[in-house]
Amino acid sequence: MDTEPKPEYDATVHLPLPTATAPEPHRRSICSNCHRPNPVCLCHVIPVNPIETKTKVLILHHPHETHHKLSTTPILTKTLLHATAVTGRRLRRGDLSSFIGCQSPKPVVMYLFPPSPSSPAVNISDVNLPEITGNGEREVVLIAFDATWKHAREMVKASEEILSDFAIRVSLGVVDENVSGGSIYDSELILRKEPFSGCVSTMEAVTRALSVLEPNGVEIETKLIEILREMVRLQAGFLKPAKPRPKLLKKKKMEMDDSSLNA
Ligand SMILES: [Zn+2]
Repeated sequence: MDTEPKPEYDATVHLPLPTATAPEPHRRSICSNCHRPNPVCLCHVIPVNPIETKTKVLILHHPHETHHKLSTTPILTKTLLHATAVTGRRLRRGDLSSFIGCQSPKPVVMYLFPPSPSSPAVNISDVNLPEITGNGEREVVLIAFDATWKHAREMVKASEEILSDFAIRVSLGVVDENVSGGSIYDSELILRKEPFSGCVSTMEAVTRALSVLEPNGVEIETKLIEILREMVRLQAGFLKPAKPRPKLLKKKKMEMDDSSLNA
């Protein structure tokens, strides 16, 4: 019987640690500012002055995700002046009221999640903002869920007990349903592959939503994408490199040889 203890990285599937042989003497050192492992620290791209938005963002962070060192929620709350995270499996009335305060008029509350057959969602691009906000008189509160898709579905369902009374479920349209394509981020790297899928989609989703909700949405989106890209670039260094394609190269070379022969 094999009693040899398993390497530790086996138990922590979320850590993007490369291979058993790669030495990782500092693997446990965490940046005290962005709370990410030092090799993938993002402080150099996080703005010194957090980005101001009209929209207030509340992220419900699944308890499992708070242990996930690559969660994007700390990045969002550091980058956006009005982003706050609460940990829980469901949104509690208290979380929401302490986030909103006793504003008058009451804000418009939206929560981001794709539609399901039983719970339709409004495509965020179709939301008539001037109308629902009374030409900006009412603030917009955007709620997002940071969890794996499975947990996020459960969180949304549980939170809808209070949200369905007053909040609008909004989706990002085709991107939600077509996760393997259609996202501008897909072309960059392998974001959808575990362990990154759940966490990246939270930041990506908030970014896309703000691009629609904010008057200077494009500018904000550009800044957030820059951070997202840097995050992906750094994390990619911890993934196994893509398989080289010697056959393709060889074939190309042969084709070239052929064409030179035929010339
Ligand atoms: Zn950092």
